[in-house]
Amino acid sequence: MKNVVLLGCTGSIGDSSFKVLENLGDKYRLIGISGGRQVDKLIRRARQWKVPRVCLGDSDQLDQVRQALPTVEISCGPEGLAAMAQLEEADIVINGLVGAVGLGPSLAAAKAGKMLAMANKEPLVMAGELVLAQVEAGGGVLLPLDSEPNAIWQCLQGESPRHIRRLLLTASGGPFFGRTTQQMQAVSPAQALDHPTWKMGAKITVDSATLMNKGFEIIEASYLFGIPEAAIEVVIHRQSVVHSMVEFNDASILAHLGKTDMMLPIQYALTHPERSPTGLEYLDFSSLGQLTFAAPDGATFPALDLCRMARRAGGTVPAALNAANEVAVQAFLEKRIGFLDIVAICQSLLDQWDQGPAETLEQVLAADAEGRRQTVEFIPPV
Ligand code: MG
Repeated sequence: MKNVVLLGCTGSIGDSSFKVLENLGDKYRLIGISGGRQVDKLIRRARQWKVPRVCLGDSDQLDQVRQALPTVEISCGPEGLAAMAQLEEADIVINGLVGAVGLGPSLAAAKAGKMLAMANKEPLVMAGELVLAQVEAGGGVLLPLDSEPNAIWQCLQGESPRHIRRLLLTASGGPFFGRTTQQMQAVSPAQALDHPTWKMGAKITVDSATLMNKGFEIIEASYLFGIPEAAIEVVIHRQSVVHSMVEFNDASILAHLGKTDMMLPIQYALTHPERSPTGLEYLDFSSLGQLTFAAPDGATFPALDLCRMARRAGGTVPAALNAANEVAVQAFLEKRIGFLDIVAICQSLLDQWDQGPAETLEQVLAADAEGRRQTVEFIPPV
């Protein structure tokens, strides 16, 4: 029996994780869950799964949750998340949080030597070296749940990193693939949230539309697999059937294919090197039709190059970029800035950013706070 902590259980990674845990049955036991603003859903999940511990985002709702779950241990905020991530009896911590809030609990889980299954890519973007150093110091493992890095990890089973020539990250291209900058000027949040192939939360769906998500995956994959950003290529693949590929020095390429369902990467992370049925439909090649591949349009989607630049610059630059992007995406969803302003604002912040080292959690959190403060100045007041 493995004890699992599920952070961010009310989001889309949470939903898929519950499906996986239900599918895997009694080999896994949930010993703690956390949720943000969707308190009713959090309460429902806690009851349904008889979870002994719950952490909520905001202390405002503490009374409501205490009344609803009188026998459950309840905590809240970043300290609650970090405490849950390092619970002594926890074997696996699934991080399905969104954004920078996942950094503290990721480091806590890493330090405590847990198996840290990360869907939340922002901690790696902000502080990749720090997260890896903590994983090593704690003696645990870091497993990618994000579908593309997870696909690469699967392709690398039994392979030596020495033989990797390139990583090929596939990208659906998002809802605005093929559009010109001019045509994206007036797109609305509703249009940006209409992703062609993957069903995800609002923040990551907007990131997919700007391609910032793919840029973040370049940074994420470069840390996870120890590969320079220049050896990571993005390939536009509209059908999202190939989840990513690895090219080796003998010119062989291994690819991971499957349904676009987050159950696949989550379940593999939990069961590897074993596999078991997910209940998902098997791919039928006769009905797949064409799989297409194309180069991304870096001029129209400048987020890719911005992320590459941030990864090369290192220090607090990626953390500043992440902070700017979180603030700008939120402002876009609130209709305070246009779609193109998201990446433009990120660029403006990096143009004026005073770089420093990102060797400690304090340094990264300070950069995150300062990045947010400076980004707000680029956004018109409400
Ligand atoms: Mg992904």
